[in-house]
Amino acid sequence: MTNVNLTRSDLERWILDFASRIMDEHLVLSDLDAASGDADHGSNMERGMSSLLKSVPDWDEAAAPGEFLKDVGLHIVSSVGGSSGALYGTIFLRMARAVGDASLISAGLLSDAFEAAVQGVAERGRVKQGDKTMFDALAPSVQALNGGLGEKKSLAEALALAAAAAEAGRDATFDMVARKGKSSYARENSRGFIDPGAASVAMLIRSAARTLA
Ligand code: ADP
Ligand code: MG
Repeated sequence: MTNVNLTRSDLERWILDFASRIMDEHLVLSDLDAASGDADHGSNMERGMSSLLKSVPDWDEAAAPGEFLKDVGLHIVSSVGGSSGALYGTIFLRMARAVGDASLISAGLLSDAFEAAVQGVAERGRVKQGDKTMFDALAPSVQALNGGLGEKKSLAEALALAAAAAEAGRDATFDMVARKGKSSYARENSRGFIDPGAASVAMLIRSAARTLA
């Protein structure tokens, strides 16, 4: 496996980058949700991320990476709202649990953490690939990341593969019919649009590629 040693401050850079991307792009995300959902994915995420950004002065620099991930997860659950709040919360809380109290995140732990996030979304959302959700961006990207780390690619390369896979997964939702969440009420009319949650997850993984490598 690739040699990786991520610290809590690496994770902070990731989340801050993601939060600022959401602040910039939330209108686009809500527009995507307007196509077959209720037009609030961007505003849900924006509310959560602006609240998270306001909490930065209270962040405990001495906290371990797992504790940080848990705090982010709890913050998201209580501030984002909507189905995406519960699901994004699950991503971070499951990662936190997988990381435990380690002070550095190795490649093995990083793999386990992302794998746990995928499992968490599958369970919590009762979702599988092809249902036209965030899962269609998350699952292939984690597969690409873990494949890359297993093949001893550099962390930068593995994360670049993961981000590209998330974006391909996001784009593949265009032709799908939604089977979960509010968009599923639109049935066939949900085809021909990118799923908003898949779009925001692709941003999350692109942020990881920008900041963690
Ligand atoms: P809401 O659906 O409550 O309005 P958002 O608009 O914030 O919440 O989020 C919608 C996104 O949540 C969808 O685009 C989809 O990616 C994701 N989503 C909704 N339901 C599920 C589910 N059961 N499993 C996985 N993802 C889901
Ligand atoms: Mg919505």
